[in-house]
Amino acid sequence: MADNKLSIEDMAVFCKKKGLVFPSGEIYGGLAGFFDFGPNCVEINNNIKMEWWKFHVQEREDIVGIDGSIITNPKVWEASGHVASFTDVYVKCRKCKKPNKIDKNEIKKARCECGGEYEVIGNLNLMFKTNVGPVEGSTAYLRPETAQLIFADFKLVAENSRLKLPFGIAQIGKAFRNEISPRDFLFRTREFEMMEIEYFVHPKNINKCPFIKEVLNHKMNVLSAESQEKNKSPVKITIKQALDKKIIKTEWHAYWLAVEHKWFINLGANSDNFRIRQHTKNELSHYALDTWDLEYNFPFGWKELEGIANRTDFDLQQHIKHSKKDLSFFDQETNEKVVPHVVAEPSLGVGRAFLVFMFDAYNDDKKRGNIVLKLDPKLAPVKAGIFPLISKPELIKIAREIYDKLKMIYNINYDKSGSIGRRYARADEIGTPFCITVDFDSLKNKSVTIRDRDTTKQVRVKTAGLKDILRKLIDAEIKFKDLK
Ligand code: ATP
Repeated sequence: MADNKLSIEDMAVFCKKKGLVFPSGEIYGGLAGFFDFGPNCVEINNNIKMEWWKFHVQEREDIVGIDGSIITNPKVWEASGHVASFTDVYVKCRKCKKPNKIDKNEIKKARCECGGEYEVIGNLNLMFKTNVGPVEGSTAYLRPETAQLIFADFKLVAENSRLKLPFGIAQIGKAFRNEISPRDFLFRTREFEMMEIEYFVHPKNINKCPFIKEVLNHKMNVLSAESQEKNKSPVKITIKQALDKKIIKTEWHAYWLAVEHKWFINLGANSDNFRIRQHTKNELSHYALDTWDLEYNFPFGWKELEGIANRTDFDLQQHIKHSKKDLSFFDQETNEKVVPHVVAEPSLGVGRAFLVFMFDAYNDDKKRGNIVLKLDPKLAPVKAGIFPLISKPELIKIAREIYDKLKMIYNINYDKSGSIGRRYARADEIGTPFCITVDFDSLKNKSVTIRDRDTTKQVRVKTAGLKDILRKLIDAEIKFKDLK
């Protein structure tokens, strides 16, 4: 992102201009921390979620998914500690009067952007309350994370899915937090979507990850709690080095940090814009033994993109205590009943992932005179634009036939209005990776041109093979330059 020097406000303006994201209920002035998503953004977000699900659930034998409800029995949130402890310190700047939230350990230390001192107003629980049914006083909460229903449903899911330790349960869904100061566009909102995994391990195997070899050579920028205390910079090291030097304490934590980083890189994000940072002692949540964040170099600094906490057996034990149900799990390998430990909880917001992919894809191409959104084809909202070169019935007929065929598989755009240059520019701006043009040669030899968004190069291919070529290009089975 750094090369583009695009601010978060610029990104918000671009997203609004392209109809991707806009303030919710804008005709009434919007509502802070809530956004609506337009047609192309729904496609991008669906693609992000689909790619996440494929990578973390479908392609793995050890992870299954659930979809819990947004409102559940409030006892879930009492047991988890959210009713008592999911609070932020609410402060107000004495100088500019802006409200903000700070961590408990920042009281008396943190200062407002304007340099003013903060006055502590109090603690604010971030859960939205609601009332269930006609009787006032039946308080329930909109979930502030998806994790808790994974724990509450743990036994049912684990036994029905016939899982064996170690295994994970994943969930994608909306979460709500009454943030004191929503800001930075989609970075901090009051309603957002989360993609989370609780990864359960036998208590005896909290440091034995059978997959660790897959990531030992993976390199990352690493900033430990100790380095932060000593004011040191991050170091770029391999996972093996991080484990050997005991910078990352457990193999499982190291494994999940690398896997999550890889997920972003495989989908076209720029590796240099990522680092992992360990929470200092004062920062740790009430449930966490150790937490590392995958951070991204946002225009407003290095910030948490994804949290990966070691939650131990805290949550399952809490639910055992409060529900008085046996949530232990029979481990066939050791013939023991155990309460598994969550050694890693990768927890990522869809909105923050969207920002990362957008910042790393955004290119202001001065030569072309338009923005080129170089999104990975898998994430692009429209996979191909189909254009008749000019509005002649014989060209339109072929273009429509191609469109009708391809739209059964992908989100495809048919566009016949404006010059071909204008149509290419419109496609570039929403990240359409390929444009297919039907011209007069198409009539003669049943062929079309495909244009590559990133290079603007065009090649002519037979119409009959188009579907297969497009699929291979999107799935990265072939490169555009290999097309003849
Ligand atoms: P922060 O310190 O930024 O408030 P957190 O530590 O409270 O975040 P977690 O509880 O770890 O956040 O949430 C997991 C992930 O959910 C975050 O890494 C982020 O991607 C996303 N997330 C959390 N809060 C928000 C929010 N208010 N708006 C958008 N995404 C969020």
